[in-house]
Amino acid sequence: MTAPKALSGTLDLIGNTPLVLLKGPSEAAGCEIWGKCEFANPGASVKDRAALWIVRDAEARGELQPGGTIVEGTAGNTGIGMALVANALGYKTIIVMPETQSREKMDTLRALGAELVTVPAAPYKNPGHFVHTSRRLAEEAPNAIWANQFDNVANRRAHVESTAPEIWAQMDGRIDGFTCAVGTGGTLAGVGLGLKGFDEKICIALTDPHGAALYEYYANGELKSEGNSVAEGIGQGRITANLEGAPVDTQFRISDEEGLEWVGRLLKEEGLCLGLSSGINVAGAVALGRQLGKGSRVATILCDTGFRYLSTLYNAEWLKAKGLPVFDWLR
Ligand code: PMP
Repeated sequence: MTAPKALSGTLDLIGNTPLVLLKGPSEAAGCEIWGKCEFANPGASVKDRAALWIVRDAEARGELQPGGTIVEGTAGNTGIGMALVANALGYKTIIVMPETQSREKMDTLRALGAELVTVPAAPYKNPGHFVHTSRRLAEEAPNAIWANQFDNVANRRAHVESTAPEIWAQMDGRIDGFTCAVGTGGTLAGVGLGLKGFDEKICIALTDPHGAALYEYYANGELKSEGNSVAEGIGQGRITANLEGAPVDTQFRISDEEGLEWVGRLLKEEGLCLGLSSGINVAGAVALGRQLGKGSRVATILCDTGFRYLSTLYNAEWLKAKGLPVFDWLR
């Protein structure tokens, strides 16, 4: 028997997540589709890695002082990761979130001891946007830093230095493609750059939800969006610093319906309860696998746990109100 290594501190629980072969998606693609189980991080999302790297970077640069405060604007998952990392290291957190995000994320942040500030959803150019609000609060609060996950490249370094080498090792260096959706772009750019460092031939694909502008950008050089998505944490309209130089070879656009179908199938057929960005990623991985052909091996990110969306994705009334199909077993 090989048990996971014993760890000397709780922050070492971040990363080193399992990689799992996904049966239904592999059958649908005619090749191997693997999912990186980021819901297995202590904060139950991929964003724990970014939070830890951003904090360690701010400490190393001498910006974050003992007992200081970390301020961040987030769809929620980065805030949850940040609150846990901050608690472990003796910092305080102020988290700014758009009020459109799931109630579970807000309740979780309060439960973890973060100071939660919610703001109305607004376009990025609006000064009330959660990112700008968080920057202002960081400037006003004493002994505080702004984590700035969108344009702080310590975020993508987390994936260059941890997620990518883990995937490479877990797939024994036999991997043909990787894809995921973009919030900050840290995961796509970081895993993409990291994997290309091992083997330039690995195909890196963007999987964009509707309503985001990156599909058009990578296809035609123009930031342009159409439609919309209820997926939380993904859907970007600009080239963040984390995205600059991302090695994107090809791109897919995936609807919420398609992503939700995979969320439902992964739950009922494989026993995985995930959020919608994971379903969209899996749909993108199936599309990439089909393109790369039989015998190829593709990896994607299972970003967070579905328990974070009981009031939304797993709620018949909510799905109906959004005009989305309701899972059979919720009817
Ligand atoms: N899925 C979820 C649920 C998220 O919260 C995020 C982070 N915003 C992402 C995907 C995207 O990750 P990244 O910020 O690294 O692009």
